[in-house]
Amino acid sequence: MERVLVSACLLGRPIRYGGGDERSGAVAILERWQREGRLVPVCPEVAVGFPTPRPPAEIRLTAETGRSPGDDVLAGRARVIEATGADVTDLYRRAAHDTATLARRHGCRHAILTDGSPSCGSTFVHDGTFTGASAALRRAGILVWPQGRIAGSDARLRHGAPDPS
Ligand code: SF4
Repeated sequence: MERVLVSACLLGRPIRYGGGDERSGAVAILERWQREGRLVPVCPEVAVGFPTPRPPAEIRLTAETGRSPGDDVLAGRARVIEATGADVTDLYRRAAHDTATLARRHGCRHAILTDGSPSCGSTFVHDGTFTGASAALRRAGILVWPQGRIAGSDARLRHGAPDPS
């Protein structure tokens, strides 16, 4: 059975930076995946030791930043800064690498990640580009889907539907 990496907050875990969850409305699909043993839940930030709640953070773009700030963070060309002013770039980078390692260990070729997060965002994070964990997963050859496209991912898993981008 092909496994799928999923942002844990989409499964109802209260781990978002403000202490809430991001429970997905695609309940039937996620419950079926759970029964099938497909789910590999992960929170890249909590996994590397960020507390909940935690200050919001964003990727700071620079003159060197290219089309993918997530790749720039991984390459050291952009920083991740908390609202407190703390530079948490190194921890975010570790979170991205650890998430890609987890996905590979479980043989995941698909990931469903929460949009709008500096770690998990894949279609919009202030500037419409990939972020830390999403960029690392893409580099590892894993298809990253935002939570609004779970049905598309399910179709791809079962019938070979088109890629997310
Ligand atoms: S890092 Fe990802 S999994 Fe963790 S709370 Fe944020 S969006 Fe959800």
